[in-house]
Amino acid sequence: MKQAEAYRWSLLFLLLFFLLSYVPAGISDDKLESAHFLTKEEQIWISKNPILRIAPAPNFPPIEFFDEHGQYRGVTADFFKLITQKTGLKFQIEQLESWAHVVEKTKRQEIDLWGEAAQTEERKQYMRFTSPYLSFPDAIINRQGETKNLTMTALSNLSVVGIDGYASHAHLQKITPALQLITVPNIETGLKMVSSGLADTIIVSMASASYYIQKLGLSNLQLSGESKFHWSLSFASRKDWPLLHSILQKTLDNISPTEKEQIIKKWVSLDKQAFIAKRSFWITIALITAIAGLSLVMVLLWNLSLRKMVNKKTIELQNELERRKGAEEAVSHSEERLNNFFDASFEGLFFHDDGKILDINPATTQIFGYKKKELLNHNLLEFVTPDCRQNVIALMASNEPGSYETMVTKSDGESVPVSVRARTIETEKRKIRIVSLSDISKHKQAEEALKKAYDNLDHIVIMRTSELEKANERLTELDQLKSMFIASMSHELRTPLNSIIGFTGIILDGISGDINAQQRDQLDRVYNSSKHLLALITDIIDISKIEAGHIDVYPESFVLDELINEALQTIQPQREKKGLALHTNIPPDIQMHTDKKRLLQCLLNYLSNAVKYTEHGKIEIEIEDLGDEVKIIVRDSGIGINKEARGRLFQAFERIDTHLRIKTPGTGLGLYLCKKITTELLDGSVAVESKVMEGSTFSLKIPKRLNRKKSRPYFNLDTA
Ligand code: ADP
Repeated sequence: MKQAEAYRWSLLFLLLFFLLSYVPAGISDDKLESAHFLTKEEQIWISKNPILRIAPAPNFPPIEFFDEHGQYRGVTADFFKLITQKTGLKFQIEQLESWAHVVEKTKRQEIDLWGEAAQTEERKQYMRFTSPYLSFPDAIINRQGETKNLTMTALSNLSVVGIDGYASHAHLQKITPALQLITVPNIETGLKMVSSGLADTIIVSMASASYYIQKLGLSNLQLSGESKFHWSLSFASRKDWPLLHSILQKTLDNISPTEKEQIIKKWVSLDKQAFIAKRSFWITIALITAIAGLSLVMVLLWNLSLRKMVNKKTIELQNELERRKGAEEAVSHSEERLNNFFDASFEGLFFHDDGKILDINPATTQIFGYKKKELLNHNLLEFVTPDCRQNVIALMASNEPGSYETMVTKSDGESVPVSVRARTIETEKRKIRIVSLSDISKHKQAEEALKKAYDNLDHIVIMRTSELEKANERLTELDQLKSMFIASMSHELRTPLNSIIGFTGIILDGISGDINAQQRDQLDRVYNSSKHLLALITDIIDISKIEAGHIDVYPESFVLDELINEALQTIQPQREKKGLALHTNIPPDIQMHTDKKRLLQCLLNYLSNAVKYTEHGKIEIEIEDLGDEVKIIVRDSGIGINKEARGRLFQAFERIDTHLRIKTPGTGLGLYLCKKITTELLDGSVAVESKVMEGSTFSLKIPKRLNRKKSRPYFNLDTA
């Protein structure tokens, strides 16, 4: 920057040197009297043409130019003032856009003279030139950092700016036709183009370059050489006015070197030049350079830290941007999803603000049968049937979530029942109510049909129940008839059987005479078969009585060991016949109050089975006094029962397949009847444990006191 300043000062210094060194020949130092140096004829011409038209070069500072107030200023302007002082001539100044315009108007004789112009052959055809009163070279200006010593020949590869209509421009075109000349209307534009890099160099008068570089602060420009062209500026006047030419020449000759120096000093400051020459200037420059260098380092460091901060901030911003972008995308996706759900919902959904419908989904339009635009911004109460409106208004006003059923009117006028669920949400300081809606007409129809079916079902059930009751009564009757039938049949069977058994016994006892061995054998078979048949019939009668529910239970008080002894005595002949030992464990005096005959029947069944299914060893009977209950256990060392067969015990006609089955008489009803009596008549339970070929243990557990009331059969089977 300072280097540029130095160049600028150098430029000024050079300019001053040229201006001051040029003193026109033949000019005396003495100041001449006004107009004395003019002839009579010339003075008369002045009186006839007191005002002359001039059009200065618009932008050729500091030689001539118009300042910011439009005032004509510069070296030439001051020369014109001097001419007015010396001759009385006055000048009417016209401000034109460019020098080209000035030339154009001059040719049409609308302009009478120029204050500064370089002589060219072409101009000489319509203008007369005085001898030059100012002279300075054209400078080659380019940007700092580029070639410093430029010659005209070196310009051939560069873009060069020239000023339109200026003598130097014509000169350039003439001497170097290969030059890439960029023509601009004024110097200011040209210098700015070079400064900004739009052109490489400009060829311009050194005086103007110096002036503009300072004025515009174009710190990146440098003086890199001189063109061969020297500006030698003269006054020029219309060719058809020779007297004016002589007046101007004489007046110019009459200007003293002092006057000229004063004018030039006014426009080119010598103080600044002096300051450059001083040592303090260079010290100041050095100091400024050092401070500038230091500042530059600080600025660079500051820049570096700023750049780091900027980079960090940029990364943060980028991350934030990406996060926001991500969030925006997520929001957009979620919004899209929400819209899709809203649109795809099978349920009608809509929003309203104090009844005014804001948005609505396709399912709602289907329920109402209206198009979306026919519903939007309408009050939803318009679509509620009049009789339901009061209720809906009350529910809306409550702002509470709720579900209810109401009736709405469709576009075709039909009223349909709908199920409504609604809640209020607060958004953007508004209370929006979100409502879901379902058409429940089909549901209602189904409900109605179900109700009818239910009523009908009730009727059917009542009918069926009544039919069943009748059938049951009939069955009961039939059952009783069956029991009566069995009872009467058993009576009919037992009577002849008892006769057969009785008389067969008499014959076998030999009361009615001797019988031979064959007859004895045959009568034995008759006797045993008859007894078997009688036992079977007795069992069947008992089972029938129990199953028919017409039981005779006769509880009575007795001591248990007496009953046990009675049972043991009954089976004693068979037991002794098989050589089986008897073990008993019977606590004495256990008082019982139950049906003695039925209990004996069960005991006899257990004991006779123990004898029947035991070939060797013993049988045992044991009583466990359990307080309110007794447990009677009959144990044997017989053939035992396998696990599979044990599951079938206590069922009617169930006889286990063993090697003893054929030779052991039995009906398969004993255990079944025993269980029936114990569980259904004596309020007890039965159990069995057994191991094959080791023996079996049958037990029953009954309460000592039977609380059963004596039932009354509607007919007495025993008597039958
Ligand atoms: P049954 O008149 O045939 O003895 P039960 O109902 O009294 O009829 O017994 C059914 C079957 O149970 C018998 O056929 C027999 O196979 C088996 N059973 C009963 N008691 C015993 C026992 N103490 N040891 C082995 N098997 C027995």
